[in-house]
Amino acid sequence: MRVLVTGGSGFVGTRLQEFQPKWHYISSSDYDLTMPAACSKMMRDYQPDAILHLAARVGGIKENSMKQAEFFHTNTMINTNIVQAAYKAGVKRLLASLSTCAFPDVIKKYPLKEEDLLKGPPAETNLSYGFTKRSLYIQILSYRKQYGVNYSCFCPSNIYGPEDNFDPTSSHFVPSMIRKFSEAEDGETLEFWGTGKPLRQQLYVDDLCQIIEKLLLEHNSDQPLLVCPNENLSISKMISILQKQLKKSVKISYNYKLDGQFRKDGSNKRLLKLIGEYDFTSFEDGVRQTYKWYERNYK
Ligand code: NAP
Repeated sequence: MRVLVTGGSGFVGTRLQEFQPKWHYISSSDYDLTMPAACSKMMRDYQPDAILHLAARVGGIKENSMKQAEFFHTNTMINTNIVQAAYKAGVKRLLASLSTCAFPDVIKKYPLKEEDLLKGPPAETNLSYGFTKRSLYIQILSYRKQYGVNYSCFCPSNIYGPEDNFDPTSSHFVPSMIRKFSEAEDGETLEFWGTGKPLRQQLYVDDLCQIIEKLLLEHNSDQPLLVCPNENLSISKMISILQKQLKKSVKISYNYKLDGQFRKDGSNKRLLKLIGEYDFTSFEDGVRQTYKWYERNYK
């Protein structure tokens, strides 16, 4: 199968290259997917049998809440163009990544299930990003219904691991925490956003890379399949896990600004029914590996 990966130069795409070296990986400098003509040209150039659609404007809580117009425009254009161009080119299989950020800010009963996706607005901090992912889901559903194509999507929880974005202005919580600890001197105070209380399911990127291959082959359904590990840890718990591993005597403080969504833990029942039992990497092991990777690559 000739597989084309959009977003191939991003965090997940770069890591995926180690697992799937024969797939074709595309960046924005190859084709600007906000332009319909570039998407059609990419289809003509590659003639893929399947597309794994990862390309998106992605950011941490700060960027996501401050640049909602940019996120809305870029993601709407990319998604609209890529699904239409794939259909027009006769591509038989498309698997797209949504995110648990697309789910309602609050629901009555946790964990989230696939059928909760449209039950209420996403959190204010990622309203725009979340709605563009919902639109992608509706677009895919519509193409499935009207054209009978095998297009489907999955919703990963927060992802972290080697190749993550460690840029201080746009990184997510885990890489930002790793960078802060790595640069800290003993006795220093490390400040984190929010209160430390929100809960997150952190998915180790290598787990996702393994699962993606199974989804590409098996996930042919209307369900926005949740891809989440079992652990659901508070921000302060994750900080204490890394602090213990590093034995650094730093003080931790919180700035009480922008906590983001309190919880968005998803159920992995449907996922495991589809792919069979899966032994997710624990946060303790994953963060240890990621810290080592960061020290090797950034120091
Ligand atoms: P990322 O590191 O920010 O990478 C984004 C990718 O999209 C890059 O390859 C980028 O290309 C490409 N892209 C952006 N604008 C483009 C454009 N106009 N034309 C063509 N390509 C463009 O993202 P990621 O963390 O790997 O995320 C991959 C997918 O997983 C996304 O769909 C994201 O929504 C989803 N997801 C991520 C997380 C997470 O925690 N990271 C969690 C849940 C879901 P350049 O490198 O050339 O800019």
